Amino acid sequence: MKSNLQDREMFYAEPIYRPPSEAYSLLVQATVGCSSAAAGRCYFCSSYIFQQKIPGKRFRIRPTAEILEDIEIGYEHYGDIVKKIFLLDSNALIIKTPELLKIVEKCYDTFPRLTQVACYACCEDILRKSDAELEQLSQAGLNLVFIGLESGDQEVLDLINKGVTVQDQIDSVIKANAAGIRTSVTSIIGLGGRKLYHQHAVNTGKAVSQMNPTFFASLTLMVVPGTPMEEMIRKGEFELVTDPLEIIRELELMIQNIDVPGPVEFRTNHASNYLPLRGTLPKDKAALLSTIQDALRDPTRLRSEAMRGL
Ligand code: SF4
Repeated sequence: MKSNLQDREMFYAEPIYRPPSEAYSLLVQATVGCSSAAAGRCYFCSSYIFQQKIPGKRFRIRPTAEILEDIEIGYEHYGDIVKKIFLLDSNALIIKTPELLKIVEKCYDTFPRLTQVACYACCEDILRKSDAELEQLSQAGLNLVFIGLESGDQEVLDLINKGVTVQDQIDSVIKANAAGIRTSVTSIIGLGGRKLYHQHAVNTGKAVSQMNPTFFASLTLMVVPGTPMEEMIRKGEFELVTDPLEIIRELELMIQNIDVPGPVEFRTNHASNYLPLRGTLPKDKAALLSTIQDALRDPTRLRSEAMRGL
């Protein structure tokens, strides 16, 4: 007999973002929007705009009962093929631990072939939880968190109103790693503009060195229309790095300053980047830098401006 859940759709508050590596994951809307955007932080981010302009994307934590029901609906639609689940939106780790445990446990109880539950996290979401809470979540199967470092330079973080310290970002990754939760950290090339590009690259490399995350990915800044960053550019308060070769040199400087025990899986596979790179640090550091040198000698290897973001 057909279950009445088959007639129901999972709830999604669109538009939705997820990491490239979660392309085949079942997406479950646990929170909507971003608590940092609700606090007016992160001047470059589209979540800032969503918070202001799209009532349905304003930050909130969905009731646990609704999330659990969505997981059941997901099973009715996708059954045993689901191996990975990603909890939307921008920082589902903000959910109080007892509720988050119910959600993660429900995921594994429902999908027999599930191997991973992941979510985005702000660094304060991690720091707010005790070591014991993080270990409980890890043991329940929340085994990957995505954290936006953006920059390892405090002046750049203050410029974009990230609202956190570099040290808090470093501590949060070390804390999650220690609890057995894998960490995927992202930085944004170009975020220091022309003025701060050198310290942004050097200090991001140094911060990643202290974090030693499981994965590290770099994106390249793309200015979102309507954000405070666009306004800063218009007023001359932020000078965008527009030359792709300067962006690649910044990437090179950052990698030169990464000195990790590893292994750290490094990627620049995001569509915003000019040069896709892939390697394991520290083993592949020389090869990555060599690929960058090749691209600097032959810029035709770079993704064209028209293809960025696609
Ligand atoms: S950058 Fe991340 S933490 Fe900041 S507003 Fe955007 S989604 Fe939220």
